[in-house]
Amino acid sequence: MIHRRKTRQISVGNVKIGGGAPIVVQSMTTTHPRDIEATINQIKRLEEVGCQIVRIAIPDESAISAIPSIKREISIPLIADVHFDYRLAIDAIRAGADGLRINPGNIGGEKRIKKIVDMAKEYNTAIRIGVNSGSLEREILKKYGSPRPEAMVESALKTIKFLEKLNFYNFKISLKSSSVLDTISAYRLLSKMVDYPLHLGVTEAGPPLRSAVKSAIALGTLLQEGIGDTIRVSVTGDPAIEVRIAYEILRSLNLCKFGIDLISCPTCGRCEINLIKLVEEVEDGLKTIKAPLKVAVMGCVVNGPGEAREADIGIAGGKGVGILFKKGKVIKKIKEGQLAKVLIEEVKKEIM
Ligand code: SF4
Repeated sequence: MIHRRKTRQISVGNVKIGGGAPIVVQSMTTTHPRDIEATINQIKRLEEVGCQIVRIAIPDESAISAIPSIKREISIPLIADVHFDYRLAIDAIRAGADGLRINPGNIGGEKRIKKIVDMAKEYNTAIRIGVNSGSLEREILKKYGSPRPEAMVESALKTIKFLEKLNFYNFKISLKSSSVLDTISAYRLLSKMVDYPLHLGVTEAGPPLRSAVKSAIALGTLLQEGIGDTIRVSVTGDPAIEVRIAYEILRSLNLCKFGIDLISCPTCGRCEINLIKLVEEVEDGLKTIKAPLKVAVMGCVVNGPGEAREADIGIAGGKGVGILFKKGKVIKKIKEGQLAKVLIEEVKKEIM
């Protein structure tokens, strides 16, 4: 069992982060918020796959005026992501953002941060100090020569100390690098120094396959050491995939009971059904299921019946057919063409 590091607790909207709360899965939209309809639709798709907090970019004033309309239509807390312009940060809080992400490397000096904090106090809005290896403060970069983990930690500590001086503690911290090893080192270092909740992520992690591997290694390593209170997997692609990868990481570490744990074999020369197509159909058909269930889709009788029996529901392939198992019992033989449909129906019946 993983012993999670004890951190302070903050709330973003109605979602608790840190202090022993379950690890929270976040994502970010790819739309410009002024396209209100597209942004709402994307957030709804994210909600369907289990996203618990969503972040939107605030590039300009038109994004600020979209915040109330977006918030009205969605069910999860909304975080405003602001760079460069502290006035946008203040306006985003005033417009009703549940949380704010600022980057100490580009938001400006202490005077500006103080103005943001004053507004965050007034509205009880949580802030994320989002340090990014690509945008560290110039003086810190000069001191370290490169955006190494120590440099990212120094950037975070500088802002943390300033916020503490302002008696503001309603924040979490991220230290994202595009390097997996630097990400791990930075969070390890900081977690020994402060007890604020940590938001984990590898930045600019690439398209889904690459991001899944990098994020699983970085976040998986940290999470199994008990570090991390909320996570975001960054993917060049559909953000819904970010959420699915995030849950796969959490499920692999027994850190959440959410959604389908899909067991499927790689297939081999013994397989006599089109298992790859079947698994794709089953995965797609079950992607919005939130109940925790183990589903096995196996190609043949070698490991098939064993895995299928261990699962809540499973299929073991035969010659153009599949055997449906439920809680270890054989239920029926199904023709290949019907397998995906029947399995999806059975899962839905099971969770009703
Ligand atoms: Fe091959 Fe059967 Fe194993 Fe699948 S379960 S990999 S088909 S032996």
